[in-house]
Parts: sequence; C-alpha cells; structure tokens
Amino acid sequence: MVYKLPELPYAYDALEPYYDEQTVKLHHDAHHKSYVDGLNNATRKLAEARETGDYAMIKHWERELAFHGSGHVLHCLFWNNMSPDGGGNPEGVIAEQIDKDFGSFEAFKKHFSSATAAVEGSGWGILAWNPYTEKLEIMTTEKHQNLAIWGVTPLLVCDVWEHAYYLKYQNKRPAWIEAWWNLVNWKDVEERLVKAAKL
Ligand code: MN
Repeated sequence: MVYKLPELPYAYDALEPYYDEQTVKLHHDAHHKSYVDGLNNATRKLAEARETGDYAMIKHWERELAFHGSGHVLHCLFWNNMSPDGGGNPEGVIAEQIDKDFGSFEAFKKHFSSATAAVEGSGWGILAWNPYTEKLEIMTTEKHQNLAIWGVTPLLVCDVWEHAYYLKYQNKRPAWIEAWWNLVNWKDVEERLVKAAKL
C-alpha cells in the first residue's frame, strides 16, 4: 500500500496528564489507521476505475479520497504538533508573526480556542499560513475536509472530534482545548512556518 501509518514521535503515555495513554493509543492505532486504510482503498479504487474505464462510482471515491486523505494529513500534523516538552509561549519567528497578525499571543489563543470550541460536530481548529496574503489565518474545518481555504498551509492543528477527547474530557471540549495548549510544540510550528513562507 502507498500510505503508511507513521509511528508516534513519543510513547503512548508521554503526553500525560494532559492527554491520556488510552486515548492516544486508540486515536493513533485505530482512528488514524482507519484514515490511512481508507486513503489506500480510495487510491486503489480510483486506479481500478482508470484501468477498467468504469466511472460509475467516481463521485463516491473522490469524496472518500478527500475525507481520508485530509484525515491522514491532519493527524500526521497533530501528532508532530505535540510534545511532552510542549506548551508555554512561542518564541522567534512564529511569535513575531502571531503578534503581527493577531495583536498578541493572548488574543491569538483566545481566538483559536473559541473558534475550535465552536466547530459544529466533528472537526479541527487550524492555524495556517496564507501565502497570498502573507498572513497567518485561524480556520476551522468540519469533518476533515469541509470549509478549508484553498492554498493555505496548515501549521498547527487541534482535533476536536469526540474520539480525540471523550474518554478523559467527556463533553467538555473547551477543557480538552485548554489542556492541549500545554502540549503544543512551538518549535515544530515555527519550522513549518519558515518552510511554508519560502514556498
Ligand atoms: Mn482524530
């Protein structure tokens, strides 16, 4: 298969107490894996359609490609955006850009948390670089693929599907988001910004 589930960059229990071992394990080994499997399946079905010339199910498989492909990309980012040594305030280039585009880190954090908590149903809060305006944007997405802005590069993502937090935080999504800030790997976010800004 073309796409593989990446290893976590830390142990399952490394993000305790903010992110519990049981949820991390299930989230990575079962949920993320299902997106990788779904992406591989959609990729294979689309190749079959080209080989046979049978495009009767094309709408379905293109939708599957968008859903599972976006799910896979966002989860890869999500794991790498967190670290046992994360949290605190950003420094360097990312801190300067946040101040420039949102006024202050506190204003950014409040905006990001509010937007992410308000996602309708399952989705994500996303900090992205917009190369057309040369600004950071806070965006939200429903499921993995709806409401996306074309052309932006996601730098930092917070998963607010119930599978991401329900075991520990139940229906308290804002409590999960508040805990998640303690895990943000700002070095990783900064490296992504520097790369994205060069494109
Ligand atoms: Mn997830």
